[in-house]
Amino acid sequence: MSNYDNFTNIINEVKQLEDFHPDFISDIINPDRIIKKTISVNTQSKTKDFAIFRVQHKNLLGPYKGGIRFHPGANEDEVKTLAALMTIKNSLANIPLGGAKGGVTINPKDYTDDEITEVSKVFATNLAEYIGPNQDIPAPDVNTNQETMAVMLNAYEKAVNKNQPATFTGKPIILGGIEGREEATGLGGYYVLTTLIDNYLNKNETKTVAIQGFGNVGFHVANFLHENGYKIIGLSDSSGAILNKDGLDPKQVLENKKNGLPKETNTGNTTPTTGEALLTTEADILILAALENQVTENNANEIKAKVILELANGPTTKAADKILEDNGITVIPDILANQGGVIVSYFEWLQNRTGEIWTKDKVYERLGLLINQNTDNVYKLSQEKSYSLRNSAFIISLKRLEEAFLYRNGLKTNT
Ligand code: NAD
Repeated sequence: MSNYDNFTNIINEVKQLEDFHPDFISDIINPDRIIKKTISVNTQSKTKDFAIFRVQHKNLLGPYKGGIRFHPGANEDEVKTLAALMTIKNSLANIPLGGAKGGVTINPKDYTDDEITEVSKVFATNLAEYIGPNQDIPAPDVNTNQETMAVMLNAYEKAVNKNQPATFTGKPIILGGIEGREEATGLGGYYVLTTLIDNYLNKNETKTVAIQGFGNVGFHVANFLHENGYKIIGLSDSSGAILNKDGLDPKQVLENKKNGLPKETNTGNTTPTTGEALLTTEADILILAALENQVTENNANEIKAKVILELANGPTTKAADKILEDNGITVIPDILANQGGVIVSYFEWLQNRTGEIWTKDKVYERLGLLINQNTDNVYKLSQEKSYSLRNSAFIISLKRLEEAFLYRNGLKTNT
């Protein structure tokens, strides 16, 4: 089964729950455009060829939007699937953007910084005709960052002979980047989780938190939760995992983290554990902020958390999802939980187009308003129709996309 089959399977599942126009379903399951090229880049030793991809899935609600990853495993199927999920996420986020994704098949560890800069330049030059502020807006993803966006923007602007910062988001502030983008995904996850807890879930059963993945997203969500009275009792990264029933201070852990998570902290007794054990530890909330396919049919029955917040993309397999649902565990799906990053990217694009400069307070406030509304909508539909939060999120998103599709194709009637 391809990755893309996972996407079409969800569409097939939700179309059994709600009516959708058949023409819309046929359209949404196929991406609009797949761009595949081979680029040649001069490295220190010789000229090397790399496969590059950009998949533009749908632009029914606005220009295509999605990140670019540099990864040895980047391939057409993966990029196509992630592009489709961006269409769904952006529609659910209620922002006027479509879905896209890009990738270069490369292991960045095998190349120098200068070589990576060269790859970034050649990539952007090769895609220049397909991207732009009204066309397709890339952003950072796995192994790419604000420096990559800066180099790509420069190469793109040279190719089109125009200053157009709104073509890329996730840029350095000096080039039109926005305050608050770094923590946006973690903050968004915090807003989604606390909106649900404060309004709908049992507050007494949602105090302690274990987090898989202590990178950008994991650190920031841990920090917002810690600052607001939640107890972080376990953390893991690719080097291992730690537990502390008294609670960990994320900033302190980050400071002490040199070659992996510190085995000692100032806050009581910290004990090492394994990454697998962290997933099944006694915590009220489990946050998945590392990789895809982490909760599977092999460990889902052992999960003790009452709530799972998916900040990584696709961390729970379909089989695990069913087991968790049967066990009464609330799974807050990725397309809702991690939408903070793309919402703040949308603010960056808006800022670049209007010439305004937003303060961090304004970014936080606008993000909170939008996310709280989106979370309420998903929760209320799930209650009204007894759907899972994931199916509710997909249905809300697909209904918006369907409406745009029907209007665009003269199929919308008032009846
Ligand atoms: P990151 O590279 O900063 O952090 C990833 C963390 O996961 C690292 O601490 C790494 O050590 C850890 N990790 C890797 N393998 C692990 C394992 N087997 N067990 C435990 N920990 C492991 O990446 P990030 O930006 O924090 O992104 C995390 C996830 O969130 C990714 O799946 C990403 O696609 C998703 N996401 C990120 C954003 C964003 O704005 N950064 C937006 C949406 C979704």
